[in-house]
Amino acid sequence: MFRIESFGSGSGGNCYRLTYNNQSIVIDCGFRLNALYRKGFTLSDVKGVLISHAHNDHCKGVADLLKHGAVVYMSDDTRRTLDLRYNFLCRQLNAGDTVKIGEFTVKAFDLQHDIPNIGFLIKAGDNVIVYITDSYYCKYRFKGVTHMMIEINHSYETIERSLHAGTLNKALYKRLKTSHFSLENAIQFLKSCDLSHLKEVRILHLSQDNGDAELFKYEVERLTGVLVSVER
Ligand SMILES: [Zn+2]
Ligand SMILES: [Zn+2]
Repeated sequence: MFRIESFGSGSGGNCYRLTYNNQSIVIDCGFRLNALYRKGFTLSDVKGVLISHAHNDHCKGVADLLKHGAVVYMSDDTRRTLDLRYNFLCRQLNAGDTVKIGEFTVKAFDLQHDIPNIGFLIKAGDNVIVYITDSYYCKYRFKGVTHMMIEINHSYETIERSLHAGTLNKALYKRLKTSHFSLENAIQFLKSCDLSHLKEVRILHLSQDNGDAELFKYEVERLTGVLVSVER
């Protein structure tokens, strides 16, 4: 049996767990372990943790995880930023690398953010999962994906509206456009992938001020015809 769980999504913290055949991997850990335990998280069946990049909402819990003996994978850039190059439990996983973690095969690929960031293509049995967050664009196309875990942070319409209303300043407006996935870019990306095996889409990292959960869910459902949920 394959399962995806979310322990939080967005700029306040991100953490997801995939479980297959009683083995788990965690993707991103933007919360302290105590906070995760309160949400029902357990480390016992976790075979490895994947960290996308060095922003706090994705790596806040890394020190706790290492202290508790978890094996954590991240790019060399992220290891340097977090000063973990000489930690034995912190393994290098750069864009282009593939690693086998228990029942999971994980391939990392590069994303377009304001600091080095990677996404993950994960295989577990017949399940093919793509994880992309904190990127305004993805240059790769994927085939046979069964589960898309993809950021939709804002839409051009919502940030345009916020800019004119004065609730979003010009600098943040520009940053959002070049660091996070918009509805428009996410739809283009999904359209360019082979969706014939798709079963489910999880929308991640919705902006509190510039997101529109109902609209984003509707647009992705309309395009894909599969189960769509918005993680918070
Ligand atoms: Zn983030
Ligand atoms: Zn980020």
